[in-house]
Amino acid sequence: MIVDFNILEGKKILVTGGAGFIGSNLIEKLLNLKAEVVCLDNFATGKRENIEPFLANPNFKLIEGDIRNIEICKKACEDQEFVLHQAALGSVPRSINDPITSNEVNVGGFLNMLVAAKDMGVKRMVYAASSSTYGDSAALPKIEANIGKPLSPYAITKYVNELYADVFKKTYDFNTIGLRYFNVFGKRQDPNGPYAAVIPKFVQMLIKHQSPVINGGGEYSRDFTYIDNVVQMNILAITTDNEAALNEVYNVACGDRTTLNDLLDYLKEYLSEYDGNIRNIQAEYGPYRKGDVAHSLASIEKAEKLLGYKPEYTVKGGLEKAVNWYWENLK
Ligand code: NAD
Repeated sequence: MIVDFNILEGKKILVTGGAGFIGSNLIEKLLNLKAEVVCLDNFATGKRENIEPFLANPNFKLIEGDIRNIEICKKACEDQEFVLHQAALGSVPRSINDPITSNEVNVGGFLNMLVAAKDMGVKRMVYAASSSTYGDSAALPKIEANIGKPLSPYAITKYVNELYADVFKKTYDFNTIGLRYFNVFGKRQDPNGPYAAVIPKFVQMLIKHQSPVINGGGEYSRDFTYIDNVVQMNILAITTDNEAALNEVYNVACGDRTTLNDLLDYLKEYLSEYDGNIRNIQAEYGPYRKGDVAHSLASIEKAEKLLGYKPEYTVKGGLEKAVNWYWENLK
């Protein structure tokens, strides 16, 4: 399936959570494709510097606001053809520490966005779902139709998103596509704070010559996914004219898994090209973390078949690019 992404020129697209890691990468690509982009964000975890380069672009508009406010959601959806809904509070540990706020934003905010998008005549809402929805299912690879029980409040919120999206098709004929992201990484992912993701956190520690702490023995594995693959899937999801592809959820991954120990080795290898001392840094090992699943590996067959997805970057290819960006921006 060959998709001409230039058909996005002049299209009106709302990106919620656009000041965050994934949202800002989506906006950058959409503006390059000459779409007209509105960003809705309350900067809870997003950063102004992530969208700073877009502010001078006449095709970009920022609405500072909270998805927990339905009126703001409606205002942001006005005249929009598509919504890429990324705004949420990420992180399993954050949701364990404060399940109420995670639920208010990730479930209440999601429902607001669905209602707003439907009422304002948006054609399709593509939303960030999560691999955490596979929960305690040990089966590998993960196939969209087979999920287990959630292991964290965060996982519940993301699963509820899928249930609401399904019901909005059945009851209001409103179209959505859910994208179950698997451990996304790449430029602009925040290395700071207690809820930082493993790759930026490790890279930052290695650059500072500190020992990264691996939770457990380092043999847990993840299907780490480079941001450009995620951007590709979002664009495929808004451009597809395959009716059978709508109102479905898809794994967004590489289809390959890497243990934490291997990940650290790759990061050390790539960072050593800039600073040879990094090669000798050893990891420290801490206890396993509550809510973490042991292994994660996605089947990407459904996305390949129905949306024509073809991951452009392998894990190692993506890590090399991400490391280069962090070296330029963090050191
Ligand atoms: P991020 O924290 O960098 O981005 C989230 C954005 O949402 C931030 O800019 C934040 O300010 C905004 N936001 C939060 N609460 C808001 C609110 N109440 N109103 C308006 N804006 C609000 O995280 P990310 O990694 O870019 O994640 C984007 C989406 O992808 C999230 O829905 C997340 O759950 C999902 N996801 C991410 C991953 C991953 O590996 N990064 C994996 C699975 C799912």
